Amino acid sequence: MMRLGIGAFCALVLTVAPSEAWVSQRGPSAAKTPVVEKSPSPLVEMGQQLATVGFGCFLAAAATFGAANPAFADAGKFSYDPNLGGPEVWSGLKVEGNQCSGTKQSPIAIRPTACSVGANYEMKHGTCATSDLEYALGRNGPKASFPKVCDGTTLKIPFVDGTFQAVQFHMHIGSEHTLGGKAFESEFHIVHKQIDGDRFAVVGIMLTGDAKTDNLKFQRLLDGWDQVAQKKAIDCGDEVLKKKARTVTEEFNVYDLIPPSANFYAYDGSLTTPPCSEVVWWNVADVPLSISRDQMDQLIKYTTKYVDPKTCELDPSASPYDGTTNRPTAQDSGARKVIRICPVNAFS
Ligand SMILES: [Zn+2]
Repeated sequence: MMRLGIGAFCALVLTVAPSEAWVSQRGPSAAKTPVVEKSPSPLVEMGQQLATVGFGCFLAAAATFGAANPAFADAGKFSYDPNLGGPEVWSGLKVEGNQCSGTKQSPIAIRPTACSVGANYEMKHGTCATSDLEYALGRNGPKASFPKVCDGTTLKIPFVDGTFQAVQFHMHIGSEHTLGGKAFESEFHIVHKQIDGDRFAVVGIMLTGDAKTDNLKFQRLLDGWDQVAQKKAIDCGDEVLKKKARTVTEEFNVYDLIPPSANFYAYDGSLTTPPCSEVVWWNVADVPLSISRDQMDQLIKYTTKYVDPKTCELDPSASPYDGTTNRPTAQDSGARKVIRICPVNAFS
């Protein structure tokens, strides 16, 4: 999912009644406090559990998004290449705080359930424009970070303490989670760091390449990565098309990429890349985002045709077997429950 220098020990245990689910509502107008219109008892019970659980995580190393932390550099050595062992050998990597063989790992296979509880997410976009984002093409696929100058994109999860600030988003080729046994071509992760806390929250959105026309909002991201790709090609002496760089200065609300009708499957899990730290509240949208075939192919190209700027050669970190950058859903969900959060108005 992302590379983080985290050595984490987390004693958090989340238990929720199986029949329960939550609800989503987005945008600045979303209610600050979850509202229950029916079946209040299970929700209240769940809310109390979550409110009193606290985050029993001790971070042995500060979470940083840079190479300054040695664990980050080590974590960068992981590969999806089955010829190098693939994700199956990640638990043996010498990465500080490695939890890849832990009991609350991600991704998982999500079994569809009915909504039974309503509550609202609060998703506020900050002041960033698409041109403010810091686009990068890495050995594990495209990524974009929110710079501090225009941050303020925040998430509040029903029944979970604290506010989470968006720090970056990235794509996996081949979905990581599955929904009802179904895998998707890509999965998009919006990564948030807890403000005044040590937890993370990720919003996961499946991507399909079946839209008849280009998704214009998504295209702005592709344009950002295209500029990075062109610069690298120039640096490596390749002939490139001379395209004028596009500067889009309008506000960019990353949450606009979440399909409006989506609900979320929420559970307590981990980073999906080494050190697989078990510090993540997962929120996986149950409706995919559709982009066009051309857009999907472009996304795949950024991942499978990644050129290392130091060697100017193709980097084989994406699995050369099938070009994927996804961890299998082999993780045992153990005693964890996956709950489905649906809009409050679905219960009125
Ligand atoms: Zn991810």
